[in-house]
Amino acid sequence: MTTVREEFGSLVFDEATMREKLPKETFRQMQKTLHEGKRLQPETASVVANAMKDWAIEKGATHFTHWFQPMTGVTAEKHDGFLTPSGDGKIIMEFSGKELVRGEPDASSFPSGGLRATFEARGYTAWDPTSYAFIKDKTLCIPTAFCSYGGEALDKKTPLLRSMEAINREALRVLRLFGNTGVTSVKTTVGPEQEYFLIDKELYDRRPDLIYTGRTLFGAKAPKGQELEDHYFGTIKPRVKAYMEDLNAELWRLGVLAKTEHNEVAPAQHELAPVFTTTNIATDHNQLTMEVMQKVARRHGMVCLLHEKPFAGVNGSGKHNNWSISTNTGVNLLEPGETPFENAQFLLFLTAVIRAVDEYQDLLRISVASAGNDHRLGANEAPPAVVSMFLGEELAAVLDAIEKEGSYNAKDREMMKIGVHVLPKFPKDSTDRNRTSPFAFTGNKFEFRMLGSSASVADANTVLNTAVASVLRDFADRLEGAEDFAAELHNLIRDTVIAHKRILFNGNGYDDAWLREAEKRGLSNYKTTPEALAHFLDEKNVRLFTSMGVFSEAELRSRSEIYEENYAKILNIEALTMIDMTKRSILPAVSKFAGSLAESASSVRRVVTEAPLTYEEETVASLSRLAPSAAEKLHVLENANMAARALEDSAARAMAYKDTVLPAMTELRVVVDGLETLVSHDAWPYPSYGDLLYSVR
Ligand code: ADP
Ligand code: MG
Repeated sequence: MTTVREEFGSLVFDEATMREKLPKETFRQMQKTLHEGKRLQPETASVVANAMKDWAIEKGATHFTHWFQPMTGVTAEKHDGFLTPSGDGKIIMEFSGKELVRGEPDASSFPSGGLRATFEARGYTAWDPTSYAFIKDKTLCIPTAFCSYGGEALDKKTPLLRSMEAINREALRVLRLFGNTGVTSVKTTVGPEQEYFLIDKELYDRRPDLIYTGRTLFGAKAPKGQELEDHYFGTIKPRVKAYMEDLNAELWRLGVLAKTEHNEVAPAQHELAPVFTTTNIATDHNQLTMEVMQKVARRHGMVCLLHEKPFAGVNGSGKHNNWSISTNTGVNLLEPGETPFENAQFLLFLTAVIRAVDEYQDLLRISVASAGNDHRLGANEAPPAVVSMFLGEELAAVLDAIEKEGSYNAKDREMMKIGVHVLPKFPKDSTDRNRTSPFAFTGNKFEFRMLGSSASVADANTVLNTAVASVLRDFADRLEGAEDFAAELHNLIRDTVIAHKRILFNGNGYDDAWLREAEKRGLSNYKTTPEALAHFLDEKNVRLFTSMGVFSEAELRSRSEIYEENYAKILNIEALTMIDMTKRSILPAVSKFAGSLAESASSVRRVVTEAPLTYEEETVASLSRLAPSAAEKLHVLENANMAARALEDSAARAMAYKDTVLPAMTELRVVVDGLETLVSHDAWPYPSYGDLLYSVR
């Protein structure tokens, strides 16, 4: 038996493996690349490639692939064999430095939002040496960025890496001002908590809506939902337990630090949280986690649903993005320190995040916008679509004292002076537990809770890193020129709190009163994806990304178009699936069932004419009232979908899908779900909500 310790990362070409497999000098070069971002020389890449190949073959790999994250949001790979004919009828296994560093996938079918048309026809992938290569399905996977020949980003990794550079640059400037000369790099860290549903595969296979769209488009409520709250943290069922063990083992081999697992609020819903790591790697690992979750589920006769809202009326799934900033010397910059000076630094970084979230609340909202997530945000389960920040009572009191130039508690009557006073000790647990806040400080990190379960965390973190970097740049500009650093620092923090405190809210985010208050404060509330996307290219947002070197204007335009198109495409597929299910299965089943009832009703002779209606008569009457209504709603949906699809402009198309197709879908669903409650379980063509939600025992 191998132990977990031996197994962990056994399929990863990590630093320990590099130390073992690479010549000393090459290893030193690699370390410089990994930790200091130094460029790797082509000769070094060749040596690394060769060692990587030998190691991979030893582990049973036969192929390699450049693994990348195009704008579809899922990962892409194209496998190539190591195998090369040696000319004497035999083969040799080859993998060159060139193949490691650069690839040219046939990129024409990945979304580019017009970028490739404008610039170059093809795209290429470029090795990201800061994320370790790994072996999956006998294939050596090389994490790569995906760009057009002109260098425009066609993926989610490139802008994320650029945003990491931006925050590194600006945070270092700030740290230098505090006399921190030992720090050479600053990185953000992320620990994404991943929610998911598990249902039985046999039942899944009988639901075209789940197969085509990932969510149920119809389904009457089951008698039991989540009202008893008996599932959250409940005992894990044996079949689920076996799944989780298998999943953990597989993730550990891939070097993913899966750590906690528990049941979630809804029946059949669970969560997995990893130990946090550098944002870029956490993003790769989350993609990998989602993929492995689905693969392992199949092995256990189940299907893992990652959609944000697989079941109406039951809590959906999100992804809490725990985010912080750390130095290479191991200091968490969002952790209150022990000395007045450390506290001052902490407060500066804290207020930088406050200002960033306030100024770019719209971009944060946009970064989590998707057709699936629209079903959660604003419903009474996930945070509202309004972005606000929760700091906890103690920290809020400290900021209040700074603002009012007073004391932060009754005992201490002294004025809170930054750089002079030590912050009170916050008991860590008291900071958290506002589960309704979209952006909560939890003692030493922020938890951004608006992300959808199926999304890559790249977009949200790109926005977060870039926005905070831009504020830090401003702060550094102001402080670098200061005559009296301490005084300027105090004023800067105070000014920032005063200017941006409208984003702070410690109450219940689900409350209607809050939504009215938020409006008064001028906070944005974009309820749906098309409404949010309409602000993506606002001038201030374009300025942010272009000035920080994270996106060019052309890249932003292409992204905006891709997101709009994506939204419309998803709704189109959902509409077509509903139409197909209604027309070819549901209405025929209803008609057949009504026919059989009518037949048995007429075969029962009525003895007393004024007797109450029989079950058969009553049901036939109800069905014959509802079925035509379903047929009518079906036509409305068909027409709405055709009209929306015909629109040329991607923004207008997305808006039409939201305004006309989505409501038509909802109306059809109401009638069909009504029909489901009348038709016998056996005669209904699809497994019910009860069947699906309680299928894994
Ligand atoms: P919760 O109470 O929300 O379930 P946990 O304490 O289990 O929170 O942690 C949630 C996630 O936060 C974990 O993935 C953890 O690794 C991550 N986390 C902890 N510290 C940091 C940090 N400094 N930066 C980023 N993520 C962090
Ligand atoms: Mg959490």
